Parts: sequence; structure tokens; C-alpha cells
Amino acid sequence: MATPRIMLLGAPGAGKGTQSANLADHYGIDHITTGDALRANKDMETEYGTPREFMEAGELVPDPVVNEIVEAAIDEADGFVLDGYPRNRSQAEYLESITDLDAVLYLEVSDEELIHRIAGRRLDPETNDVYHVEYNPPEDPAVEDRLVQRDDDTEEMAQERIGVFKESTLPVVEHFDATGDLVRIDGEQSPAAVWSDVRAAVDAAIDA
Ligand code: AMP
Repeated sequence: MATPRIMLLGAPGAGKGTQSANLADHYGIDHITTGDALRANKDMETEYGTPREFMEAGELVPDPVVNEIVEAAIDEADGFVLDGYPRNRSQAEYLESITDLDAVLYLEVSDEELIHRIAGRRLDPETNDVYHVEYNPPEDPAVEDRLVQRDDDTEEMAQERIGVFKESTLPVVEHFDATGDLVRIDGEQSPAAVWSDVRAAVDAAIDA
């Protein structure tokens, strides 16, 4: 199968963005990321208010808003990797009502490491490349000077978002674990080692 449909689960900071980009590139599939879609539409008026109000509090944006974004993206995609969706059981049920999946992966990372990764994460607003002050600083001082931190990447907000993950998203992980579809990946390894495991898991799932 050339165009797998993949769900990548993991807490904030687990490496979903990096590994999703690898998957999209390697399999030639769409990278569907609700976080980026919502950041690009923070001030969109919805009947629940704007996404910004929820995002700045580290809370989940209401399901109907997110489900609509994902359904439109899936309709246009020939194979995809979902990054940051579903975030709760109700989104997972919605997803299962609109599509089938070929692989469900979960990147496991300890809380301590998640906080360290999130609080040190920086973005280049010109290229959207992601850096880390300690693990992956830019070589070019001009790039270093223009790096910004996401509003919700402070240590305090990271704690909040990890709490939301445990309460709302871990039940999704448990659900796919119970159905036998979940593949756990050690997300604390180097990005290259995680990618090797991720690719092997997807290849095994699509060969099965
Ligand atoms: P992320 O970039 O995936 O860490 O998402 C950043 C923020 O966007 C989250 O803290 C939520 O406020 C919002 N968000 C992203 N994806 C979802 C989703 N599937 N459901 C609800 N809110 C989401």
C-alpha cells in the first residue's frame, strides 16, 4: 500500500511533529496537524468563541471545530498522518466514523523529558523550522536572533497541557491498546532512532 493512513499519538513534546514530517515525506502522504491549522486560524469566529481562547489556556478547542477541520483535510488526502488528533474519546469515535486507519502509533516519553523539550523549544518564524536551545540550537546567529517561543510552550503551560493529555488523550491510547491496534514506540531515543522504529512499525502494519 503506497498511501497509508496513520494516527500518531503522544503527549505535547513527544516528537509527533518531527516524526509526522518524516512520515509525510517518506510515504508521500498528507501531514494533518490540528495544532498548526488552529494556530493559523486562532481568531476564527465559531459558535464556541475563537480557538485562541482555548489554546491560550492550554485547553482543548471544542470537538465540532476540530472535527470539521480534520474531515475536510481527510477528504482531500490520499493517505495521511494525523498529528495532534484525536485528543479525546469523542474525537476518536468521530474519526472512526469517517475513515479507516492502517497504523496507530504512540510515542512514549516521560513527563520530565516532555517538560524539558517543550520549555526549550523555539521556532524560526521565517521557515517554521523547530529548534531546541540545548538539543538542537541553530548554527546561524541570524536565525538564533529571530527565534520565538510558542505562547503555550512555557513550563507552566507545558504542565497544564500534559495534564490535559493525561485526562483526555490517554483514554484514546488505552482504547487502541485494548483493540490490539496500538504500537508503542520509545520516544526518548534520538530522533533518528525513533524514526527507524516508526518506519518499521508502519511497514509492518501495511504489510500485514
Ligand atoms: P499542538 O500544536 O498539537 O500542541 O496543539 C496546540 C493547541 O491547539 C492545544 O493545546 C489545543 O488547545 C489545540 N488543539 C490542537 N489539536 C487539538 C485537538 N485535536 N482537539 C482540541 N484542541 C486541539
